[in-house]
Amino acid sequence: MVRSRERAALDRRRWRLYTAKSVGMRVIRANHLGMCFGVRDAIELANERAEAGPLTILGDLVHNAAVLEDLRSRGIAVAHDPARVTTHTVMVTAHGASERALARTRALGLEVVEATCPLVRVAHRALAALVRDGYHPVVIGQRDHVEVHGLTEDLDTFDVVLDERDVLALRSRPRIGVASQTTQPVDRVRSLVALIRRQFPQSDVRFIDTVCRPTKERQDAAVDLARASDVVIVIGGANSNNTRELVSTCSRYCSRVHHVQTEADLRPDWFLAAETVGITAGTSTPDDIIDRVERRIREFAAERADRTHPAAESRS
Ligand code: SF4
Repeated sequence: MVRSRERAALDRRRWRLYTAKSVGMRVIRANHLGMCFGVRDAIELANERAEAGPLTILGDLVHNAAVLEDLRSRGIAVAHDPARVTTHTVMVTAHGASERALARTRALGLEVVEATCPLVRVAHRALAALVRDGYHPVVIGQRDHVEVHGLTEDLDTFDVVLDERDVLALRSRPRIGVASQTTQPVDRVRSLVALIRRQFPQSDVRFIDTVCRPTKERQDAAVDLARASDVVIVIGGANSNNTRELVSTCSRYCSRVHHVQTEADLRPDWFLAAETVGITAGTSTPDDIIDRVERRIREFAAERADRTHPAAESRS
């Protein structure tokens, strides 16, 4: 009788341990995630300038719908063509712009406020130095990205490459100078630089690393996160290049990666049987959206625990 009571108690302990392990869902954040200082400073500057008078931002200040909506709600206009601007003051985004584009805008009689990130300026200076030293400039990045437009528009000749096929299409030159869009993954940049060197062994290939530190930190932290997680949630705007790069990096180490813009995109079935859920976010994702997504995931975990624990109780 005593032995059967002890066995029943042991069974109950084992069952509780089992359910705690299977329903308990750990939610962890990447060591580096979310909005970078360049985007924070640009938003702060936009808000400051808008208080001083009507302001139009040229293009998307950040690739995040919630942030843009918030700016619009403060009366800040957005225009993609300087000719359509109706305010006296316009702001260039953190992605920067070429000297030619700035001159065209000023020629319209507009006052230009530059929110260009200092690390984008580093990339501009790197390309200018390569050209000055006689190198043919090659930019690793997305041809149609606003930052790449800004980086290349002042150059008389240049190439933009994003993959192996682009590199294979390059012409041979005695001196090739390589820099990259600030948000490109370091692995891709290194492997394309190595490929350029292999393809043109006779050329003098000079590389200046212009991937920004916040991008590197977020990419490295995303690798650690994905390795430790059963499911990874990447938060960021649908058009955000660095968010998409985080999705692609995480997908190399975790098979269940989902990109969401807000908590409304989360689906409970993504978390089935997941013990560890990792969260990361692109450089234009505000803190409050990250908090809301994490809260919703924790609610799913609590709902799952509620559904499972009554069964545990009924056996005790
Ligand atoms: Fe600056 Fe990097 Fe942020 Fe772009 S991602 S705004 S370069 S810190």
